[in-house]
Amino acid sequence: MMRNPLAPKWLEKRDLGALDPKIWPRTAKRNSQGEIEIGRVGVRELIRRHGSPLYVVDQEDFEARLMQTKRAFSEAAQRNGTSAKLYYASKALLTSDIVRWVDQAGLSIDVSTGGELAVALAAGIPGERIGLHGNNKSLVEIGRAISAGVGAIVIDSELEIERIASVATAQGKTQAVRLRVNSGVHAHTHEYLATAREDQKFGIAISDVPDLVAKIRSHSHLRFLGLHSHIGSQIFVVDGFIASAERLLDLHAELLRSGDVPELNLGGGFGISYTQADRPMDIAQMADRIIAAVAQKCQQLGIAIPKLAFEPGRTIAGPAGVTLYSVGTIKDVLVSDSGAAATRKYVSVDGGMSDNARPALYEAEYSVALASRVSNATPTLSRVVGKHCESGDIVVRHDYLPSDVAVNDLLAVPATGAYCFSLSSNYNFLTRPAVVAVKAGSTKVLIKAETEQDLLSRDMGLSEGGYN
Ligand SMILES: *Cc1c(COP(=O)(O)O)cnc(C)c1O
Repeated sequence: MMRNPLAPKWLEKRDLGALDPKIWPRTAKRNSQGEIEIGRVGVRELIRRHGSPLYVVDQEDFEARLMQTKRAFSEAAQRNGTSAKLYYASKALLTSDIVRWVDQAGLSIDVSTGGELAVALAAGIPGERIGLHGNNKSLVEIGRAISAGVGAIVIDSELEIERIASVATAQGKTQAVRLRVNSGVHAHTHEYLATAREDQKFGIAISDVPDLVAKIRSHSHLRFLGLHSHIGSQIFVVDGFIASAERLLDLHAELLRSGDVPELNLGGGFGISYTQADRPMDIAQMADRIIAAVAQKCQQLGIAIPKLAFEPGRTIAGPAGVTLYSVGTIKDVLVSDSGAAATRKYVSVDGGMSDNARPALYEAEYSVALASRVSNATPTLSRVVGKHCESGDIVVRHDYLPSDVAVNDLLAVPATGAYCFSLSSNYNFLTRPAVVAVKAGSTKVLIKAETEQDLLSRDMGLSEGGYN
């Protein structure tokens, strides 16, 4: 069959009924009627009960990934004579149930705002298993974190040393802190996902670290745990993590000459597959390579290997989530400005950039499958778009759908568990979808769907009262 010239090189034709386990959560499969089910619940039943669009979390997959990731880093650490503390980076996907899953799996949790801290605390995870980072923590946020007894606060600027010390002193507590370093390593990822290049807002320059650590150590209400770095997100290759770890360990060794440095936190950022073309390194292999490199560097420096910490978010939540949409309109668009004229099928769904901002924000690619049935019709190059008033409102830029895709069909977009609900908005006054967990044939609503009434109730022009 002739290839559509609009199809990117990486996009392969494939069996459109198959669900690639690299991209789909582990319990996703087609039932005997060809409908996709997740956690043994069919997509049509999910939509019927919870509305469309819908965020679906495969709880079994999420929990398995928590355990797997923890085990991968802990075992790699053990092999190299140390330990690894795992923080789930909650900004990827945060609800109180998820905090409980994290707690039960024995991981700690990473929060970056007072709001995220509030969810973690409300869900009942002990304060000492919470880490707080962020580049602009207010006095109020710091106060709440210290009174909750958080295990670590990551200092992101010189100013924060005094700010945190003053709150700890006022509360009569000693707060454990890390210092985030901008290691200058260029992660191979989208510019806005790279967080350790020199020209960005996070962390402290390497050259400033010794002075700032001395300052931290001079405060009796602060306890210095060690350095922290997070080089970016959706990273596939191990080199950046190793380069950053080596730079931090040079500093770590220098700091050891003037005091204790018990830990080293190397952040998160491990990539996942969104399309067939994505080939991230297996997480166990990633853990092994990073920690082996840390051990080797420590040996070269003649220092003991510190206790390690990591903060994976996407690699746990991302692959566990699927977004379901209903097809509203379909049009074939003739594209003639690409040399040869060709047709692209535009399939409009009932959500878009308000439930998945990543394509618009990072040019992120996704995959799609016809979910409510299987079809043997010809694979046709398609673009799944939302219903917002933006041409950049794309959900899936490039994938094949059967040529007979029709109004009211359900589509499923996999790998939406991380940074979709978290980044969702009410653009165009769309109500945000529910988030439901499915497991072994049962469903639990994690976050209920917003209603138009929810949105209208915040519009004070519609309630009594006026200027005061
Ligand atoms: C976002 C973030 C993470 C998690 O990144 P993932 O790509 O989801 O693994 C970890 N640490 C810090 C400091 C972050 O800001």
